[in-house]
Amino acid sequence: MTQQFDVVVIGGGPGGYIAAVRAAQLGLSVACIDNWKNAKNKPSLGGTCLNVGCIPSKALLESSENFERATHQFAEHGIKLGKIELDLPQMLARKDKIVDQLTGGVAYLFKKNKVTSLHGHGHFVSRDGEGITVAISADGKEETVRGRHVIIATGSVVRAIKAATVDNKLILDNEGALALTAVPKRLGVIGAGVIGLEMGSVWKRLGSEVTLLEAMPEFLPPVDRQLANEAFKIYTKDHGLKIELGATVSQVEKNAQSITVHYSNDAGDQLLEVDKLIVAVGRVPNTQGLNLVAVGVDANEKGFVEVDDRCKTTAPNIWAVGDVVRGPMLAHKAEEEGVAVAEQIAGQSSHVDFGTIPWVIYTSPELAWVGKTEQELKSEGVDYRVGTFPFAANGRAKGLGETRGLVKMLACARTDRILGVHILGPFASELITEAVVALEFKASSEDIARIVHAHPSLSEVFHEAALAVDGRALNL
Ligand code: FAD
Ligand code: NAD
Repeated sequence: MTQQFDVVVIGGGPGGYIAAVRAAQLGLSVACIDNWKNAKNKPSLGGTCLNVGCIPSKALLESSENFERATHQFAEHGIKLGKIELDLPQMLARKDKIVDQLTGGVAYLFKKNKVTSLHGHGHFVSRDGEGITVAISADGKEETVRGRHVIIATGSVVRAIKAATVDNKLILDNEGALALTAVPKRLGVIGAGVIGLEMGSVWKRLGSEVTLLEAMPEFLPPVDRQLANEAFKIYTKDHGLKIELGATVSQVEKNAQSITVHYSNDAGDQLLEVDKLIVAVGRVPNTQGLNLVAVGVDANEKGFVEVDDRCKTTAPNIWAVGDVVRGPMLAHKAEEEGVAVAEQIAGQSSHVDFGTIPWVIYTSPELAWVGKTEQELKSEGVDYRVGTFPFAANGRAKGLGETRGLVKMLACARTDRILGVHILGPFASELITEAVVALEFKASSEDIARIVHAHPSLSEVFHEAALAVDGRALNL
């Protein structure tokens, strides 16, 4: 018998599982279909983010940073350690345990909120009257459910390139890069974007020689130029990541134990010999096998499900959220869209403001930003003022031993409204939230300048950057 629900969600990642929980909180009957299976071949909720994305990568970033601190920084604090050894199996086991706890946590949330969890691959069958029929196939069996509303939250998959086919033995995607069982002596990365920098940092700290080959001539094009240039210096000079910009990869040869990457740059044809190669050249929307045509949902030429600014697709009562639709491919963007859609289905009016979505790259130091970059304001002809303040002049940063980087605030020259905040520094991922709140509340730099910030704290750098917009930073 076909079970009937108010809402059927396809995909149990941050977009889908949060939409399911919020819809259930609002009194709707909900089913969530997800097909993820972990390395033990067990269903595992939470999608890319919890299984092979945000969470395991941050676990390894933290572990590898601790290894680096113990090896290079503790002595400066007057802490002498004996011989420091890397126990990689333990580091990976810790990461896996965190993943298991959090994916299990989603299963618990489903039980608590009475969301029906269905494992298998979901695809559209038909629409009739008020209902949309979705089939779920798993292990050769198929069942169907009907929803008054359906939310597509099927996420994204790795973008493949012809030159380097991922086998997760020698040539790795994010899944393989998070599960290496030995530290490669030489690691190559195609793409110096977010994943390339984060995974490159992990393995560099654990002992690999890391070379990133980036097609674009500019480092991190979406980032404010001043901070991107500063970050480039830190990553290459202090951390020893080798980053080649303007590199066109033409061929990747697999040898018995190594890989030869053929590429060209301004200086001509080049060869790179590595033991493992990560491919991190972006992600593409995942609508595989969804049978969108059966219910009249359109996807665009790049494969993204077409939605309006409220996440409505081209078919009535079918919505789409997260990586499978336009906008940044970020877990918190997916979650907020999930909440907004659930609330709209329940008759509320909710939407997500893309202008205040924060970005974080979890390198050391972290890079975080919200709102407009200086280059965007220039190209839009906006008259602005800039305030910057370095972490080097902050007592808390000195105590932490993390003095690299700065906070940069951009404010409208006419109204003083804050238009963008860019942070390169310790705990930038946490500090950026004050900037997000400021932008959401349409604060001026003067508002921040007049708010008391605790001393000594890293947030004082944000305060000083606001004062600097008006040329009155106090501690520089
Ligand atoms: P997903 O998380 O991809 O979930 C989609 C789910 O739907 C999956 O479980 C998939 O198996 C399932 N599915 C797909 N098709 C079907 C179907 N037909 N039937 C049933 N189930 C289906 N973002 C951040 O904000 N911060 C970070 O630090 C961060 N780090 C990242 C690190 C890495 C290595 C990667 C790869 C990504 C990272 N991201 C990060 C991006 C983040 O993971 C994604 O933006 C987020 O997971 C998108 O959520 P989603 O719900 O749209 O899709
Ligand atoms: P990305 O878009 O961040 O970076 C891909 C990089 O590869 C770009 O710099 C691009 O110019 C380059 N590139 C593309 N084709 C190339 C080629 N053939 N040769 C060399 N370079 C090439 O994508 P990603 O790093 O794969 O990550 C995918 C997405 O996952 C991110 O855009 C982000 O949305 C999400 N993510 C977020 C976080 C975070 O929030 N901290 C972490 C990891 C991933």
